[in-house]
Amino acid sequence: MRAMVLTRPGEPLRMQELPDRAPGPGEIRLRVAACGVCRTDLHVVDGELPDPKLPLIPGHEIVGYVDALGPGVSGLQRGARVGVPWLGHTDGTCSFCLSGQENLCDRPQFTGYTRDGGYASHAIADARYAFALDGPGGDAECAPLLCAGLIGWRSLCFAGEATRLGLYGFGAAAHIVAQVAKWQGRRVFAFVRPGDAQARAFALRLGADWAGGSDQPPPEPLDAAIIYAPVGALVPAALKAVRKGGRVVCAGIHMSDIPSFPYRLLWEERQIVSVANLTRQDGVDFLRAAAQARVATEVSTYPLERANEALDDLRAGRLSGAAVLVP
Ligand SMILES: [Zn+2]
Ligand SMILES: [Zn+2]
Repeated sequence: MRAMVLTRPGEPLRMQELPDRAPGPGEIRLRVAACGVCRTDLHVVDGELPDPKLPLIPGHEIVGYVDALGPGVSGLQRGARVGVPWLGHTDGTCSFCLSGQENLCDRPQFTGYTRDGGYASHAIADARYAFALDGPGGDAECAPLLCAGLIGWRSLCFAGEATRLGLYGFGAAAHIVAQVAKWQGRRVFAFVRPGDAQARAFALRLGADWAGGSDQPPPEPLDAAIIYAPVGALVPAALKAVRKGGRVVCAGIHMSDIPSFPYRLLWEERQIVSVANLTRQDGVDFLRAAAQARVATEVSTYPLERANEALDDLRAGRLSGAAVLVP
């Protein structure tokens, strides 16, 4: 198999030829058809997340075709198209797993972080954490659903009944969530990097009711806001933008420090919450909703060997929509 491998955080990935691996008990092997490039991959390769597996094959938005089944795997056929997300394994026995919060498992494994991911021609996955992708949609177009879509969905659920929804950072996640939110009948207010006219136009094209710079107030108070950009200063900005009792949802795994702010911004029962990982139920619910909402993702594809370029483009904000690697 071929893979783009991270040997040390902060260094570019390098293409390597590796021995083929056989799936272990409960695992499947996939022929990777596409793998999305997520901001979390940047945090991993830049060394902003602690203790990655090393050497590591990044990538946790994997779309692939089952090509081998390990012992004990049932319910999956060779040739089936599946998607493998960030949460790649849980112990199933800790108090969180037993109470329906497997996203908070005490002994989790994360695809492309603490276990090898999909920047490769082949990948091994825990069969329990592979979602059937039997709907329409090209392989590359489905890839961003596996994290941008899924975490986006969980953060959207955390926003509650909010009719007036703010989205801070209009990248891969927001471009999917905006479509689902509009389908649900919400109004979407998109906040982009100040002066980023292209991102603003992108948000409006995808159905946002309003789009402006993150340094601007919305035209009316929001019921909830979701922050996708890894910028702590957006937390007080979003608190200012939500009404009494409104909620600010932080959807990223990593964020720069949140600057101190006056208590009055939180006062009147405003809330700040974070969203971590996903559950398998989130996957089932989201993939159904995405099909019903006819979510159409916008992707820029890169050959696998150009993964570093895709990461650079994401880092520099040169993308509209999502970057996807194709082996
Ligand atoms: Zn657990
Ligand atoms: Zn991700």
